[in-house]
Amino acid sequence: MKIIFEHEEENNTGHLQEEEDVSIELPSDIVRKEPLPIPNVNEVDVVRHYTNLSRMNFGVDIGFYPLGSCTMKYNPKVNEDAARAEGFSNLHPLSPEECTQGSLKLMWELKEYLKDITGMDDFSLQPSAGAQSELLGVMIAKAHFRSKGEKRTKAIIPDSAHGTNPATASICKLETITIPSDSRGNMDIGRYKELLSPEVALVMLTNPNTLGLFDENTTEISHLAHKNGTLMYCDGANMNALLGITRPGDQGFDMIHLNLHKTFSTPHGGGGPGAGVLGVKSFLAEYLPIPQVVKRDSRYSLDYASKKSVGRVRSFYGNFGMHVRAYSYIHSWGTQIRKVSEHAVLNANYLQGLLKDTFDLAYDRRCAHEFVLSSRRFGEKSALNIAKRLMDYGFHPPTIYFPLIVPEALMIEPTETESKETLDRFVLALKKIASELKEHPEIVKQAPLSTPVGRLDEVAAARRPNLRWRPSQRQTKVE
Ligand SMILES: *Cc1c(COP(=O)(O)O)cnc(C)c1O
Repeated sequence: MKIIFEHEEENNTGHLQEEEDVSIELPSDIVRKEPLPIPNVNEVDVVRHYTNLSRMNFGVDIGFYPLGSCTMKYNPKVNEDAARAEGFSNLHPLSPEECTQGSLKLMWELKEYLKDITGMDDFSLQPSAGAQSELLGVMIAKAHFRSKGEKRTKAIIPDSAHGTNPATASICKLETITIPSDSRGNMDIGRYKELLSPEVALVMLTNPNTLGLFDENTTEISHLAHKNGTLMYCDGANMNALLGITRPGDQGFDMIHLNLHKTFSTPHGGGGPGAGVLGVKSFLAEYLPIPQVVKRDSRYSLDYASKKSVGRVRSFYGNFGMHVRAYSYIHSWGTQIRKVSEHAVLNANYLQGLLKDTFDLAYDRRCAHEFVLSSRRFGEKSALNIAKRLMDYGFHPPTIYFPLIVPEALMIEPTETESKETLDRFVLALKKIASELKEHPEIVKQAPLSTPVGRLDEVAAARRPNLRWRPSQRQTKVE
C-alpha cells in the first residue's frame, strides 16, 4: 500500500482541474505561482487514504475506552443528528434575534436544565473548555473580592485535584496551598482548618476527586470556607457520578464548571471543540460574561447590559453545537437522568471489586464513577507496560501515572454506556496481562504488537513526529 503522496507521478486521472477558473480578481501578490502540491489521484484512492487513516486510530465507536477523568462515554448519534440540523448548523452568529428565537430558546432552556442538575442560579455557556471555565471562575472570584475591597491572594487545592486547578490559580496570580489527602482519600480536614485564613479567596475542590472518591467532608469544608468569607469552587468535570443524585449547589458550592464534552455527550479527545460551562450562585451572576441569553415575556434575547461582567471569554456565545448536543442528551433522559450516574457508579464499583485483588487499590472504599489501582507490585513502569499491552487486547488504556499521589497509577473510568460483557472481557484482559507480567514480562515490555504503530520513543515522537507513517511498515511488502 502506498501513502498518498507517492501516487502523484504515475497517476494523472484525478480531479485536479488543468485550467484555473477564478472569477474573482485577486491581487497578484497573493495568487499562487506554483500549483498546489497535492496528489492528483482517483476518487477511490482518496477514499482509501482517509479510511485507512481513520482505522489507525482508536475511538469509543471502536471499543472500550476507560480513560479515567475523561468520561469517554458512547455518544448517542441522535445528538449528532440534532447538532447537524440545518437550522442550527447553518445559523450565522450575527443573525437578528427575530430569526434565532429557536436557538436562543435552546440555550436558555439548557441553562435551566443545568441549574436544575447542579443547584446553581445562573450559567454562562461561553467557555470552550473545562480549564477555560476555571479561569473564568477565578476571574469572577477576584472581581467579587475587588468589589468588596478585599485582597485575597491564595487558593486552597487538595493534592488529589486535577492539574488544571493549580494551573488556573497560578495564571490568576493566586498562590496555591496544597492540602494532602487523608487515609480515606478525602482532603485532610485537620490541615485544611489550620491553613484556612482570611487570605484564602477560594477552595477548589474536584468532587468526586481524581481518586474517584466523593469527599466525605464536603459540607463541613463549605461551612468553614463561608464562615471565612472564602468562595467554594467545584470542578464538576466529573458530574457523571452525581446526575440526579446530589447537587453541588446544595453542598455549599458557589461556582461549578461542567464539561459538556465529558458528561453531556459531545465526542471529544480528538482536539475538537469543547464546552466548559460555568454555573454560579445568584450573588455572582452579575459578573458572568456577556451576552447572556434572557427571556422576557415569551421572547428570547441577548442581554449585554451587565456593567459588572468580567467581559467575554470567547467570541459569540460559546460552542453552540455542543449546546445542542447537551440539550438533546439531557432532554432525551428527562427525569430519568439519575440512571446515567447510577450505572456509571455501578460499573466502576463492579470493575473495582473484580480487580482489587489482582492489583493494589489505593483507597479501599466504594468509589464513584472511577477508581485508581496501583500496579506497584509488578515493579517500575508496570502501569505503562500494562497500558500498552491492553491495546493488543483491543482496549484503550486507562489513564496512567495520574493522580500523582498513587504510584504506578491506573485510573479507570468505565462510564455507564458499557455492558457487563465488555467489563468482564476487560477484567479478563487485565488478569491475563498480570499473569503475563509474571511469566513472559518480555512480551508485555514490547507491547503493543498488533497496532499500526508499535512502542514509540515517546519523547522523540513528541519532539520529532514522523507524520509520513506508511501502512507497509507493519504489513508484508509485495515488492
Ligand atoms: C477534563 C478535566 C478538566 C479540564 O477540562 P478541559 O475541557 O480538558 O479543559 C478539569 N478538571 C477535571 C476533573 C477534568 O476531568
